[in-house]
Amino acid sequence: MAITVVGSVAYDSIETPAGRRDRCLGGAATYFSLAASFFTDVRVIAVVGEDFGPRQQSVFDKRKIDTRGIERAAGKSFFWEGSYLENLNEAKTHKTDLNVFASFEPKIPDAYRDSEFLFLANIDPVLQRRVREAMPGVKLVAGDTMNYWIKDHRPALLEVLKGLDILLINDTEARMLAANNNLVQAARAVMAMGPSSLIVKHGEYGATLFHKAPANAEGTERTFRAPALPLEEVVDPTGAGDSFAGGFFGYLASQPEVTPAAYRNAMFYGSVMGSFAVERFGTERLQMLSRDEIDARFGAFRELTHLD
Ligand code: AMP
Repeated sequence: MAITVVGSVAYDSIETPAGRRDRCLGGAATYFSLAASFFTDVRVIAVVGEDFGPRQQSVFDKRKIDTRGIERAAGKSFFWEGSYLENLNEAKTHKTDLNVFASFEPKIPDAYRDSEFLFLANIDPVLQRRVREAMPGVKLVAGDTMNYWIKDHRPALLEVLKGLDILLINDTEARMLAANNNLVQAARAVMAMGPSSLIVKHGEYGATLFHKAPANAEGTERTFRAPALPLEEVVDPTGAGDSFAGGFFGYLASQPEVTPAAYRNAMFYGSVMGSFAVERFGTERLQMLSRDEIDARFGAFRELTHLD
């Protein structure tokens, strides 16, 4: 089943203990679609500027990602600059230039309309909501956000949460959104805002899936934890969360039914894709990845976690 994704397609300047890269192709929708494209058809909605050329376009084309919904506008593409010098699990943002995203009015190509899965990747919640409303027929909607929008765009974000089945955020963001430092209580509070499932990402420590408890069983959310692969070197954590989301949602969309077992496997495929993304700067590793490598690493995750 096809996934439509809306989110940033960007240039990133990144500094990590392993070095620095200036203006590499990034953006939440870019990482997400590259990761998800190993599992299912992906269609992107975004806007780029005149600085987005054939070399950037070919990154999507090589993975057969549908980019008819990426609009070209006068001006510059979204630009983000960040570093991870103190903490590899959390980016320090130095600059966010929305550029062409500031006046973006998303249009959904007719060819995207039969998508059954929708992913609202990280971008202005006003845009996320517009795309959600323009696609009322989708079967499952997941989304992501970040501290930038939680802090300064809360009312718009709360509207988006009402229309989500699954929210994926990192643990600092979950605590910030719920104004509660206890993760279980924070998860309960966030799910009360709309999504029936919440995935909290813990960087190098994996991710936890919470499912809302049935109405008559107060305080008994179902939870499931997937680890992250212990890696010898993390070159660049940028995009790990979006790649996790792409692996998770891509796998779910590839399954005949969205069952609890499918969710659990999807958590592992999310971890697999996150673990690849951090091995090189930007999207370099995802660009040269193969399905065989993905399956082999899934096997490594089984070895890491299974008792029998
Ligand atoms: P993550 O998976 O959280 O590491 O996401 C990294 C990507 O998010 C980078 O490629 C950035 O271009 C993108 N990004 C950073 N800030 C924002 C923002 N405020 N809105 C949308 N995308 C962003």
